Amino acid sequence: MIVMKFGGTSVESADAIERVARIVSTRLKSSPVVVVSAMAKVTDQLVTMGHKAAAGECESSIESLRALRERHLRTARELLGPKRSASLAPRLEVHFSELENFLRGLAAVRELTPRGSDYLLSFGELLSSIIVADAFAVRGLKAAWVDSRQCLVTDSTHTRAVPQMDATRERCKKKIVPIASKKAIPVLGGFIAATEAGVPTTLGRGGSDYSAAIIGAALDADCIEIWTDVEGMMTTDPRLCPDARTIKRISFNEAAELAYFGAKVLHPATLLPAIHKNIPVYVLNSRNLKSTGTQITAQAPPSRDTFRAITAKNGISIVNVVASRGVMVHGFLRSVFEALDRHSSPVDIVAISEVSMSFTMETKRLPKALLSELEEIADLTCENQQAIICLVGEDIHGKPGIAASVFNTIAEAGVNIRMISQGASEINISFVVQESDVPKAVRHLHSHFFPAASSGKQNGLARRERTNGVAANTRVANSVKRTSEKNVTAAGAN
Ligand code: ADP
Ligand code: ASP
Ligand code: MG
Repeated sequence: MIVMKFGGTSVESADAIERVARIVSTRLKSSPVVVVSAMAKVTDQLVTMGHKAAAGECESSIESLRALRERHLRTARELLGPKRSASLAPRLEVHFSELENFLRGLAAVRELTPRGSDYLLSFGELLSSIIVADAFAVRGLKAAWVDSRQCLVTDSTHTRAVPQMDATRERCKKKIVPIASKKAIPVLGGFIAATEAGVPTTLGRGGSDYSAAIIGAALDADCIEIWTDVEGMMTTDPRLCPDARTIKRISFNEAAELAYFGAKVLHPATLLPAIHKNIPVYVLNSRNLKSTGTQITAQAPPSRDTFRAITAKNGISIVNVVASRGVMVHGFLRSVFEALDRHSSPVDIVAISEVSMSFTMETKRLPKALLSELEEIADLTCENQQAIICLVGEDIHGKPGIAASVFNTIAEAGVNIRMISQGASEINISFVVQESDVPKAVRHLHSHFFPAASSGKQNGLARRERTNGVAANTRVANSVKRTSEKNVTAAGAN
């Protein structure tokens, strides 16, 4: 059995869904289970509708809902023809009227809670998966829609729920396996799940990749295919740098690091279930049926390039905490760490000196209550609109001069570095710059470490295989420390 996940752009229109059906038909022998995202931009539109309704702009949000309804019904008509789409329409209409009722309710109470947001966003994947399942059937693929809310069981951390694997495994076996064993294709919406009690939850934005991996692990799949709009994982985001090229092979460790540090092509937690069950993951281009993309496995042959890839994560805050006069230094550090712990704050990079500590965190996840608490024990400053740039490669450990080369390149780009992290058993070098400097810095680094002339180098990979520990990478360097395992675990709850 294999799990095939198609992202928003891969199901954005009738043509795109048509391509998905063709791709899936090439995998029938492998018993595919198909997971789909909402049609491109739908989740963002649902978010906007929710905010509008909660702000009392009910009619405007209902107007957007009309456009959303029209898009789905039109796509269904184009894919299924007038007769079959007319028979599907009532199933879709049930969801549109539930959505309308919900938006009106939001406008009445003027509040969108995390729980309400999960319910609201679940419609995107429900609608797309119902349409895709029917489109398959019309194209001679035996398919059955499966409600993911009855398969993926999570805790109740709304907007970034954590899967409960034992219950999920049991449900997947009960709901998905019987369909697959009748040689039919189960089709599920990604991103959405439910608590044990049946309350809808979501796995965090971009979470359909994670759904595919969770289902893959629950069913012991042979592989997990993530079909997207680029040729696999690339040496950097091709939107930032057009010279980016596809990485043929990459290890779980490296790919997880890239995903955590902003490579949007994979949800940060996607690789955790795959690592656990040692299931290979492929990232492939749904616009290219012959795509060979990127293969992600426990071990990957070394690349001749110094790094495997460069990534950037925007929306970061640097928090500087300086001990107030008279505070004992050891007591100060303990108080700061205890405060971070109390607020379950996922810190990326930490730099400590005798009487001060700086740490970075995603601005949207920085609790105001944490800042108020820290202000009571220290002088506090907070800088927003920062970004972490991260260069990943398992071969950098023990090679002299690499950090110098990175920082020289950044200096040549005229970019100021705010914080640095590199540790002993490193697979990455990461540092913080201002968000506005990211494009310049990444392009300079990419042309230095992945020069255009070296594009054929990947074919000359050395044959040596390495053993990559897939567990923790705890890095401590001078006064700079970052705990990768915590990051990946935190990302699991993204
Ligand atoms: P999907 O809708 O299929 O889930 P996403 O938009 O979530 O697709 O992810 C694909 C996008 O990720 C690409 O269009 C690309 O701009 C971005 N991206 C960022 N970093 C990378 C990278 N290193 N390799 C490939 N794509 C990347
Ligand atoms: N539709 C969801 C989002 O846009 C999940 C996903 O596409 O992976 O975040
Ligand atoms: Mg995605």
